Amino acid sequence: MRDRIAGTSQIFLLRGYGMDCSRIKDAIYLFLDNEMGEEVASEFENHLASCPSCARRRDFTTRWLVQVRRRAVRLCAPDSLRQKVLRSLRSNGLERLSP
Ligand SMILES: [Zn+2]
Repeated sequence: MRDRIAGTSQIFLLRGYGMDCSRIKDAIYLFLDNEMGEEVASEFENHLASCPSCARRRDFTTRWLVQVRRRAVRLCAPDSLRQKVLRSLRSNGLERLSP
């Protein structure tokens, strides 16, 4: 079964270059976003099982992404502030910017 091709990095990985430490950095993001086909994911996991340095990079990147996504949710403006901003835009003749 052929892997699904998800992007430039995936194509690069599939062209017979194999999986090594220099390619793990890009591959981590494909893996964490479930954008990596099964065959390449298996290569990726095999490499991490035998490379503590890349395994640490994967763990760090995973934690970092979780923090970024949590903070992104916290940055949503409360509805009362949103309404206040929209009223201000309308009162200044900028209503076309509001939804
Ligand atoms: Zn490695």
